[in-house]
Amino acid sequence: MLPPRIPLARLNTPLHLLARFSEKLKSAYPDAPRIWLKRDDLTGFALSGNKVRKLEFTLAEARSQGCDTVITCGGVQSNHCRATAIACAQLGLKCHLLLRGESVPAEHADGNIFIDQLAGATIAFHSVSDYQKNLNELLLSAQDEVARSGGKAFIIPTGASDEIGIWGYVAACEELKHDFAKSGITPGHVFCATGSGGTQAGLTLGAYRSQLNTQVWGINVCDDENYFLHKVNEDITACVARYGDRYDLGKAIHTAHKDLPIKVIDGYVGPGYAKATAEIFDLIKEFASQEGVIFDPVYTGKAFYGLLSEIKKGRFDAEQDVVFIHTGGAFGLFAQRHCFYSKTQ
Ligand SMILES: *Cc1c(COP(=O)(O)O)cnc(C)c1O
Repeated sequence: MLPPRIPLARLNTPLHLLARFSEKLKSAYPDAPRIWLKRDDLTGFALSGNKVRKLEFTLAEARSQGCDTVITCGGVQSNHCRATAIACAQLGLKCHLLLRGESVPAEHADGNIFIDQLAGATIAFHSVSDYQKNLNELLLSAQDEVARSGGKAFIIPTGASDEIGIWGYVAACEELKHDFAKSGITPGHVFCATGSGGTQAGLTLGAYRSQLNTQVWGINVCDDENYFLHKVNEDITACVARYGDRYDLGKAIHTAHKDLPIKVIDGYVGPGYAKATAEIFDLIKEFASQEGVIFDPVYTGKAFYGLLSEIKKGRFDAEQDVVFIHTGGAFGLFAQRHCFYSKTQ
């Protein structure tokens, strides 16, 4: 049993072995595990990536509260905002986006924000400092404004990472369990890019609930290990508190969740959030040309680079198989296309 959910994602997504890449890796590092990709970049087209799994639960909640408008927030190239804008258009909800950064003239919009506009979202830009200082007030005042004009708005926090949204990845663990059985693998480690923590929180809780016997790791693309240890724990605790006795979280988890191992691989943020080095752009090119898989410089490319570096250091030598969750993000690539020319020739 799961909380109310609106089907938005194309499920189940494939789990696929990076056969050629793993073989090449093994020829240089004989003890390296094989790497599998969970293709959550294939949850849809415009409505794709990891956020869709979360929005299935988040928007069900918005609907059950009778809201006609959704307000959310993120960077100008937020995948979460783009997915929310499209999902709202599909469901006939109004969408207001509060974006962090310089305003982009409509005719220059690229990548995610171009899709936001197509989907008819109302967009407000806020300077980085205003956004960082006043995000809650900005969200609440947008909600008030909707109320004054007779509507009812539901606020989705950054990345839909809260006790509702994380159900997307709690549920995904049932899917992973079947994937592992079907592929005949027992991976001891599952990795994802961590940006607002909800994917990692859902996977960590879901791995316990579905008895995956696997350790979940977030590879952070912003902030640091301490921040995410705290944030992931906070989301899990709130989820257990709110849903604990229902939906198969059960009594056991009330005590067990305090011992759930939350693990972060830190050290790969590089120059900063959404800023990648030449190595990351090279890896994205290599993957596109050799595997036909598209990573992005903000999340998946950076996190996969981190995983690969740790594997090369021998950290996961004891493993036969590891799984990397491909969380999507392809639209973010377009806004950084110039980096492929200036940094990597
Ligand atoms: C948002 C996002 C992530 C990070 O997920 P969180 O749940 O926010 O930690 C990873 N990859 C992509 C492509 C994303 O858009």
